[in-house]
Amino acid sequence: MKQALFLATLAAGTAAAAPTVTRLTPPSELFASGQAGPVIARFLPGQRFDLQASIRPDAGQKIAAVRYFVDGRPVAANVSLRDCEKGCVKGVDAATAIATVRAVSVEAAGVHQLSVEATQTDGQRVAARGNFEVVPFAAALGPRVKNIIILLGDGMGASQRTAARIVRGYAQGKAVQPLAMDTFSATALVKTASLNSIVTDSSPGMTAYVSGNKNNNNEEGVFPDDTVDAFDNPRVEYLSEYLYRTQGKQLGIVTTADVFDATPAGNAVHSSNRGAGTGIVDQFFDDRGLTGLTVLMGGGRKWFLPAGTPGSARTDTNDYAFAPDDDLVKRWGASPGRLDKGRDLIKDFQAAGFSYAPTKAELDRADATKPLLGLFAFSNMNVALDKINGRRGTEKNGLQGGSVVDDFGLPDQPMLDEMAAKAINVLKRAPKGFVLMIEGASIDKQAHAMDTERWMLDTLEFDRAVRVAQDFAAEQGDTLVIVTADHECSGAALIGGSVVTDKVLAELATKKGVANLRNGVVGTYEKAGFPRYRIAADGYPETTDIDYRLLVGYGANADRYEDWRTKKTPQRDVQQPFAVDAPLKWYPANAQERDDALGDYLVTGQVPGEQAVHTATDVPLSAYGPGALAFTGVIDNTDVFFKLAQAAVKGVVAPADASGSRKPVKPRR
Ligand SMILES: [Zn+2]
Repeated sequence: MKQALFLATLAAGTAAAAPTVTRLTPPSELFASGQAGPVIARFLPGQRFDLQASIRPDAGQKIAAVRYFVDGRPVAANVSLRDCEKGCVKGVDAATAIATVRAVSVEAAGVHQLSVEATQTDGQRVAARGNFEVVPFAAALGPRVKNIIILLGDGMGASQRTAARIVRGYAQGKAVQPLAMDTFSATALVKTASLNSIVTDSSPGMTAYVSGNKNNNNEEGVFPDDTVDAFDNPRVEYLSEYLYRTQGKQLGIVTTADVFDATPAGNAVHSSNRGAGTGIVDQFFDDRGLTGLTVLMGGGRKWFLPAGTPGSARTDTNDYAFAPDDDLVKRWGASPGRLDKGRDLIKDFQAAGFSYAPTKAELDRADATKPLLGLFAFSNMNVALDKINGRRGTEKNGLQGGSVVDDFGLPDQPMLDEMAAKAINVLKRAPKGFVLMIEGASIDKQAHAMDTERWMLDTLEFDRAVRVAQDFAAEQGDTLVIVTADHECSGAALIGGSVVTDKVLAELATKKGVANLRNGVVGTYEKAGFPRYRIAADGYPETTDIDYRLLVGYGANADRYEDWRTKKTPQRDVQQPFAVDAPLKWYPANAQERDDALGDYLVTGQVPGEQAVHTATDVPLSAYGPGALAFTGVIDNTDVFFKLAQAAVKGVVAPADASGSRKPVKPRR
C-alpha cells in the first residue's frame, strides 16, 4: 500500500503537469525538508487534532478527491474539501483545495507517518507525506495529581524575577525574603521558540505549554493554514479540553489583562488571530462544554457589552459563524457561533449560572459555590503600582490630580493574588479537580513600555499570587503548581544602582543629558551596593523613588528617554475604549513622549518602533507539589504539556519529591 502510494508520487512528479501539495498539517520536517526529524507535532494518546492539506491543481483542473493515511491505513473520517473562493491568503492559487479531517486521534505510541493522496479531475494524482509522534504515558511511580495550577508571568525572564527579589531586599549578598517562586522544589530552563520564529509572542508561548505543540506567532490552539478565516484553522486539543473530556477537570482562567488577550485565550480558544476579540470571548462561553470553563477573570468588559453601549468594542468583523454541518460542529462539538455584535455576553454568562463581579467588592461577595465571571476593566486592568497607589490614596502628582485608577473610573480593582484566592475557592469544589491558569500580564506590557517600576511591582503582585497557589498546594498535597513565562520581554538587564539620592536625581534631570543622567548616576559593580526599598504592610514598596535605587537597562529597546524616576502615569493604552477621552488622552503615547520633557537623556534603541520587544532568551520555570521534580534541565516549551498531563492522567514519575507536603516559607513582615 505504502509502496504503491510512493510510486504514484513519483509518476505524478515526472509528468509535465500535476497537482502539488503545498502544505500538510500537522507540520513536520518530513514534509518541509524531507528529514525525518526532529518530529515537530506531538500528541498525547487520544488527544484530538485536525489533518489538513492544501493542494494546488493544474490549470483548468480541480481537486476531485483526497484521502489520508496514517501508517498506510486510511483515515476513516470525512474529508471536507473546499476551494479558495471564500478567501485564501495572498500568494495561494485560487483553485487550491483545502482538504480537512477534523478531530482525529491516535492511541498507539511512537512516530507515525501521515500521508495524503489527492486526485484531480483528469485523474492525475499526487501524494505527500509527513510525520507526527504520539508520546506515551510513562509508568507512574507516585499518585495522580488532582489539580494543576499554571502561573504565567508574561514576559518574565530571569531579570524580571531577580529584580522583584532585589526590591524585597538583600543583606550582605543574601536575599532577606525569597520570592515564593524561589522556594519551589525544582527549576528548569525553557526554550521558547514558536513554530515560525525564534522569538515567540504570547499566543504560541502559552499554547505550547497547554497543547504540546508549536503554533505560529499570533495564533492560538491551531496550526497555520492558507485561508483568511481566523476561526477555521486546523485545531489541536488543549490540556483543558483533554482533561475535561477524559477526566471532568474544570478550567479557571485569571489574568490582569483583557481576557481576550493571547495568554488567557491560549488556554481555551482556537483562532489564528489573537486580535479577534468578539469571536474569542464568545468562544470562551459557547464552548465551555468543551473546556469546562468555570472561572474567567480579568479585564475586557468591552467585548461583553452589546455594540452601541458606551465602551463596547463588539463587532461582527472579528466574530465567527460556522455552518451547522461544519465538521468543527459535528466532530469537535464546537458551537456554531453567530455574528451577534448586539449580544449581551455578561447576561448570557449570568443566565448560565455564573456570578458576575465588576469590582473587588463584588468579587468578595460572589458566591463561591457558583461559576464566576469577573470583568474589572473595559480592557487591560490597571497595573499593581497604580492599583496600590489608588488604595493608599497616593495622588499621581500632576495632570489632573487624583490617582490613575480614578482616571480610569475603576477605583475598586482586585489585586492578582485576591483574584487567585477567589478562583481557587470556587474551583476547589470541582469534584474531579481543575486546571487553573493565572497570568501576571503586565510584567510584559510594562517591559514593552520600558517602565521599570511598573513591571517590578507587577512581578511582586504576581509572586503574591504564586504564594496563594503554593499555600493551597501545600495544604492539599494533590496539586501541581508551575510558575514560568511565555518568553522574556525587553532584554531587561539589572545594570546596577543609582549612586545618588532621589533628590539629587531630580536635580540632575534638570541639568540634562548623558553627562548628568548616565555618568553621574549609574553605579556599576560595588558602586551598585544593595538598593533598600522599604516594604509596606500591603506587601509593596512604600515608594519606588528611593535613594540609590535599582537601575535597569534594556537590551531589546526602542529609542527612549530615561530619567530613572518612577513615571507618574502609565503610557496611554490604545486598547482602552476611553483612551481618546480626557483624562486618559493626556497620558504619554510612548517612552519618548513620556520622559523627554525632563531629562533629555536619549538612550538609542536597537529595534525600530516605540516599544521594547520580546527576546529569544530561555526563561526559568519552577515547579512545586507532586510531580515537580519532573521539571529540570533545559526543556522545550512543548515538553511542559506532556509532563503536566503525565502527572494528571497517569501519575507522577518523581516519587522522591516530598515537596507536596512541605510547607512554603512564610514571608516575614
Ligand atoms: Zn509582549
